[in-house]
Amino acid sequence: MESLDELLRKAEAAHGHLCAGQILGVRMALLGLARLGIADPHGADRKRLVTYVEIDRCATDAIGLVTGCRLGKRALKFRDWGKMAATFVDLASGRGVRIVALEDSRELARQLYPHVESASRQQMMAYRELADAQLFREQWVRVSVDSAERPGYKSERFLCPRCGEGVNFGRFAEVEGERLCLSCARPEMRYWEAEDG
Ligand SMILES: [Zn+2]
Ligand SMILES: [Zn+2]
Repeated sequence: MESLDELLRKAEAAHGHLCAGQILGVRMALLGLARLGIADPHGADRKRLVTYVEIDRCATDAIGLVTGCRLGKRALKFRDWGKMAATFVDLASGRGVRIVALEDSRELARQLYPHVESASRQQMMAYRELADAQLFREQWVRVSVDSAERPGYKSERFLCPRCGEGVNFGRFAEVEGERLCLSCARPEMRYWEAEDG
């Protein structure tokens, strides 16, 4: 694995700035990979790992960078739970380690660097140094990743009879015996609204 400093340089370039969240994310991902015994996530081990993230913040970008798990590869799964937590899953064994950032790490950073003025600088310095156990809680979990949710899954494409749009990965619903895309099946769930009616 690359060093923390190297990874932070890459994370900064990819994310646009270096911040406490990047450092936490890089540390969290390194810990998850170490626990699973995955040493080469971008090479030999690249098909072994799926990562579930529970927040869409700075740390999420860093986790994607270190693990190589990306949305576009179906290897990064987003659960919008607002928690600074991620689960690293070894597809070969079905075992995963769920890692949660501890709430009191900010207070630890303040105690470690009371003379540093900004809280974010305190955190950026402390999060490099604090032990894993001071930053994170971890637990072993089982995650069954359905074959249809795995990277590389080939799905049939289906055309929605109502809107005519193509749909992959079996994302349709039956409504009164008709198979529709999710946006036609449940218009109330749409995140958009047509301007021209
Ligand atoms: Zn950031
Ligand atoms: Zn449709």
